[in-house]
Amino acid sequence: MSDAPKILIVDDDERNVRLIESILRANKYDVITAYDGEEALKIVNDNAPDLLLLDAMMPKVNGYEVCMRLKRRPETQLIPIIMVTALSSLEDKVQALEIGADDFLAKPINRLELLAKMRSVLRAKSLHDEVARTKAALEEKNQELLKLEHLKDSLMQMIVHDLKNPLTGIMGNIDLLMRKGRNIDEEKRKHLLLKTRDSSNRLLKMIMDLLDISKLEEEKMDLQWSRFNVTEIARETIKELRGLCEVEKKTLVLQNDETSIEINADRELIQRVIGNLLNNAIKYSPENTEIKVSVTPGEEETVVCVADQGQGIPPEHHERIFEKFAQVDSKKSRHRADRGLGLTFCKMAVEAHGGRIWVESAGSAGSKFSFSLPVRTDLPKQDSEKEPQPAAVAR
Ligand code: ADP
Repeated sequence: MSDAPKILIVDDDERNVRLIESILRANKYDVITAYDGEEALKIVNDNAPDLLLLDAMMPKVNGYEVCMRLKRRPETQLIPIIMVTALSSLEDKVQALEIGADDFLAKPINRLELLAKMRSVLRAKSLHDEVARTKAALEEKNQELLKLEHLKDSLMQMIVHDLKNPLTGIMGNIDLLMRKGRNIDEEKRKHLLLKTRDSSNRLLKMIMDLLDISKLEEEKMDLQWSRFNVTEIARETIKELRGLCEVEKKTLVLQNDETSIEINADRELIQRVIGNLLNNAIKYSPENTEIKVSVTPGEEETVVCVADQGQGIPPEHHERIFEKFAQVDSKKSRHRADRGLGLTFCKMAVEAHGGRIWVESAGSAGSKFSFSLPVRTDLPKQDSEKEPQPAAVAR
């Protein structure tokens, strides 16, 4: 298909049509022709041209009528029309312009005037189209922003609601412990304290994830680089979660427990990434199953994996679960107060180190979350916690 503007010539006099057609073809325009008003209206309906050269005086439906009908309809009112007429009185010109014609040409046609007027209305039309396109794009953006604003409001309500839940539990437990004082048996007291501690941990985790995600999003998080043994970090995190595992009857295993694998990274962030992955593995696996953690060193990157024997994740969700507030719609996730922030935090924290995170899961055979951190040779080999920070961190 050619990009040349498509011009519809409408005239009942065949000689005039041929004359204008030859001028236009010589100037690389696409030409369509019609010999009366009705035919012209039909062509415009079927295959709208970029411009009409419209003879005013024609039998049956004359040029003024065609112009009026086209300018009345929203779908055709923007197609430019140049009225061509043998009449040249001021009244004729005024009439043509009043009914919406964009310009006016008197017969006999002057080639240069014809081409100049055509260029002028086509230019105006293309500017108008550009403005219309920009307006449509802005309108679309505006709708998107309104949608985001709405989403933000409902997410805010959701978050406040989710933060309120564990807090209400904590306050209820403290109230009960204070009211009953010593009149509460040791077992019940221990249970209440454990529940209170779990709820507080959940609250703290949500708040930390939220804060860190917004810092990472705004690139305001300064990574605290240091050199440390990542196996040791995994071991510490597993130890912290042993209590929870006992309650939930799951076993945590660190493979190659004794090996020391040193990496350069932000120790606290990496510990929280491992903690998040382990918490999820515990949360989404059934009782009496095993969760394995492994650390594999490499020349270019170190890979940490957390594999569970849980419900698994369907492949279509493998990317989405790392998005903010994304959850796979399963019974387990639907009924919990968590809000799909943990993996977003993990992804952002790992990517801030120049690494990547991914999941492998063949449906119900469990999930294996892995993240890789590039080996940094530009950082000191020794424990460098008090050394100046390198330049390549996210600001
Ligand atoms: P949440 O707070 O909902 O657990 P996450 O960002 O940690 O948020 O996880 C997002 C979603 O990914 C979860 O809601 C769950 O559907 C899915 N998911 C994460 N880890 C696992 C896992 N080990 N096994 C199965 N599903 C998981």
